[in-house]
Amino acid sequence: MNIIFLGPPGAGKGTQAERLSKDLNVPQISTGDIFRAALSQGTELGLEAKKYMDAGELVPDELVVRIVEERLRENDCKGGFILDGFPRSTFQAEALDRFLIEEGSGIDIVLNIDMDSEELVKRLTGRRVCRECGANYNIHYSLPETGGECDQCGGELYQRDDDNEKTIRNRLKVYGQQTEPLIDYYSGTGKMVTVDGSKKPGEVYDVIRGAVNSLGA
Ligand code: ADP
Ligand code: ZN
Repeated sequence: MNIIFLGPPGAGKGTQAERLSKDLNVPQISTGDIFRAALSQGTELGLEAKKYMDAGELVPDELVVRIVEERLRENDCKGGFILDGFPRSTFQAEALDRFLIEEGSGIDIVLNIDMDSEELVKRLTGRRVCRECGANYNIHYSLPETGGECDQCGGELYQRDDDNEKTIRNRLKVYGQQTEPLIDYYSGTGKMVTVDGSKKPGEVYDVIRGAVNSLGA
């Protein structure tokens, strides 16, 4: 199954994509995670991406498309994949379509997670991420049981550089201008399912799993 997660920053794409990736045993490809990993390794790609990420802007389309196409050519994607954070613009969506047509495949389902923007600001300002395993917590909703460390691995929790209010507001604006048009782009395909992202993660996941099941996964 080839799956796309669509939705504003903070809607829970990463959390849901990770669960689905484990359940379906297909790789989760998060462009944001790819850039953050590149940055922590100090590569040129990471340093280039950081300029845009810190401002809440999109990394240039050509660069993102090249990275994703390279990743999709790897063997573990032959049996399906989950894209989380890509495509984020019409340019990216069209490039992905062309790429998949050349490969003789296509998208099976687009999961569009819908959320109100004030709630998103609260989620994003409260988000804390484990430095070791990437698990997400939130000071407003779901602190780790230990208080300061990751429940899963004991790692240190940190706040992403782009999770400050000013950058968050710009990410939401950029989402509205560049990414939201993809809802129209994909709703025409009949493969898009819109899910209410304001519910608890487990409830959102049940809806997603149901939608994926009904498509034959
Ligand atoms: P979120 O969905 O919470 O904004 P991500 O980790 O998906 O977080 O993305 C963080 C940042 O990485 C974005 O604000 C953007 O700068 C960059 N980025 C991620 N994916 C893309 C993409 N497909 N195109 C352009 N920039 C991207
Ligand atoms: Zn951890």
